[in-house]
Amino acid sequence: MHAKEKFNKAAQEKIVDKDFRQKMGVVLDKLVQNQQHGALEFSNLAIAKQRAAYTKWKVAENLDKYLVDFEGSVIRKGGKVIWAYDAQNALSEIDSIIARLKAKKIVKSKAEIFDEIGLNKHFRSKSLKLTETDFGEYILDLMGEKSYHPIIPSLNQSVQAVGSILNTKIKSSLEANLDEWASDVRAEIRPCFYEADIGISGANFLIADSGLVAISENQGNARLSFAFAKTHIIIASIDQILPTISDLELFFSLLSTHATGQQFATYNTITGPPTRDDKEGPTEFIVILLDNGRSNILATQEQRQALSCIQCGACSNVCPIFKIAGGDANYQSYRSGPIGQIVAPLQQGFQEYQYLSNLSTTCGKCTDVCPVNIDIHNHLLRNRHENLVQGFEKTGEKFAWYTWKKFMLSRKTLNRPAAIKNFTLKQFYKSEWGESREFPKIAEKSFNQLWREKIGIK
Ligand code: SF4
Repeated sequence: MHAKEKFNKAAQEKIVDKDFRQKMGVVLDKLVQNQQHGALEFSNLAIAKQRAAYTKWKVAENLDKYLVDFEGSVIRKGGKVIWAYDAQNALSEIDSIIARLKAKKIVKSKAEIFDEIGLNKHFRSKSLKLTETDFGEYILDLMGEKSYHPIIPSLNQSVQAVGSILNTKIKSSLEANLDEWASDVRAEIRPCFYEADIGISGANFLIADSGLVAISENQGNARLSFAFAKTHIIIASIDQILPTISDLELFFSLLSTHATGQQFATYNTITGPPTRDDKEGPTEFIVILLDNGRSNILATQEQRQALSCIQCGACSNVCPIFKIAGGDANYQSYRSGPIGQIVAPLQQGFQEYQYLSNLSTTCGKCTDVCPVNIDIHNHLLRNRHENLVQGFEKTGEKFAWYTWKKFMLSRKTLNRPAAIKNFTLKQFYKSEWGESREFPKIAEKSFNQLWREKIGIK
């Protein structure tokens, strides 16, 4: 089934589920309130956003230089950088490291990029023990479900479902509350940190001039995942570069205020290759730098700004489409929400993923809330234009618009009885409109007919 058809099917199920919509509305509205509260931390948020946007613009315009600077800094400190052209390339490199180390136990902590390269699915086919260390991801892994929200992956799961899976898998009490379940999960995964051969983490920012990696989190599992393992693998994308460590103050606070409303996340870690003075921790520090189609975005002068994203998730929380039909799992792409809808067709191809650019009312709420001033809704419009330029408009769509134009330019057709017009429109747009919504009815008489009647012309 085509990705668009899968999305339509999944979205139609969600749209008619009133309880689910109400629950999502409440949770997402709470996240929006948190973000609004977090924004009050800035004496002048507009200037903070402008500064961040300028820094990311500078990075995108000089990405080749910053990436080479980062690589050089890591190597000088004794670490290693591996360039991965695509997801398959990244997975092969990870396999080679595992084979070289004869590693059997791996711990990993949540990062969107793992979904992008299909890390869990890849590991499941191998005889390795992979432990998810973040609570939400751990639950989803037990359930075999995909992440639903960029910041709170198990957002769509009910308390009952969480209790039930933990009761089945790790014998947690059904009567316990969320804190007690989180404590049970921590007890379950704690030994895995000590036993791990490899710790895999994502990164929030890569610091070009010092070869350091910055990670912002609330559960502290990323830092634990490489505290005991002898090898730390970081998987990061080429657009996560910041020029200097002094940029972190602004970016850490923009990220946490817009993601969760916190002034700063609970744990902000800056790590790098081991030094001679380090008595503990990893002896090997490897960064896998993933491109996976980001060069395509970089090559488009107009859309390049999409590489500025710091993955705070704020644009998803305010998006009316995400609210009623959304969830990462539904979008059929590894990144969802408004920013995912821009980058997916550019990274993965318009032919398969153009439908994502149309999942928007272009209300502009996403653009307003973005901490790095990405012009999100206009980039979605640019994508729609690009789809036409690349010639991927479907024959059915072309025919529909051709007919629409004919219809609208013909006075005779517009003055036909409403029943005929209603029937024709419904036939044309039936599949796009879906079964669950009533198609809007056209007025009994056209404006032209009403006007003629008013002034007495037959
Ligand atoms: S596009 Fe902006 S609002 Fe959306 S996730 Fe990225 S940084 Fe956050």
